[in-house]
Amino acid sequence: MLRAAASAAAAGALASGCDPHRDEDRGPARATGPSPSPVGREPHRPAHAARPPTRVPGLPVQIENGPREARAVALTFHGRGDPKLATALLGEAERAGARVTVLVVGDWLDAQPQMARRILDGGHELGNHTLHHRDICALPAADAYAEITGCADRLRRLTGTIGSWFRPSQTRRATELVTQLARKAGYPHVLSYDVDSLDANDPGAPAVRRTVLDAVRPGSVVSLHLGHAGTVAALPPILDGLRRRGLRAVTTTELVT
Ligand SMILES: [Zn+2]
Repeated sequence: MLRAAASAAAAGALASGCDPHRDEDRGPARATGPSPSPVGREPHRPAHAARPPTRVPGLPVQIENGPREARAVALTFHGRGDPKLATALLGEAERAGARVTVLVVGDWLDAQPQMARRILDGGHELGNHTLHHRDICALPAADAYAEITGCADRLRRLTGTIGSWFRPSQTRRATELVTQLARKAGYPHVLSYDVDSLDANDPGAPAVRRTVLDAVRPGSVVSLHLGHAGTVAALPPILDGLRRRGLRAVTTTELVT
């Protein structure tokens, strides 16, 4: 059933959400005030600096993919889990010359603050994936906002910006309310995706590779997860398959701007 559903899900027919694993409730999130608005024109930034959110004229508020004429895709990762597996994944990407986007969960950064710098130092992009990875679309507005700003505050403290992108937790698409709250927190766009790797179900590296390569198209935004050994093992053959189709793995900002 899962196998049979994989292609359909990857093609977007099913909204599987992000990470089927339940997260424990760690109590109410702490609201720490609004984040600054994103900058419009950025000054020159040194290599490995965190990029602030970017408004991309012409793109919808909720982004599922980049231009279909692009010769590139964006591999985007739920940022949580064993830091050894996360570091191994980043190393595999870098060995192949790939850049990825990691949407970090705020409480993971509390436990692993060094990972923010590690991700940026690899030339990758950082984003916000809420503070506790709750079912954000089911939360009251104040709680949902605190989930967004709680992670934004941690990113700002560690990197100087609130991260380039916001991705809602436990859902593929944000509700109108969550989209408005993300904008209020400083993110002009919400980052969805058009290819679901289903890697969080741990189906094994060959299945992850097949699911991604069967569904990926030029301009795709692919959802993957840090913290899963099968995903680490699947990454080199995924990157090899992309390369054979003339597709580079680039940051989300590079894909859409
Ligand atoms: Zn997630």
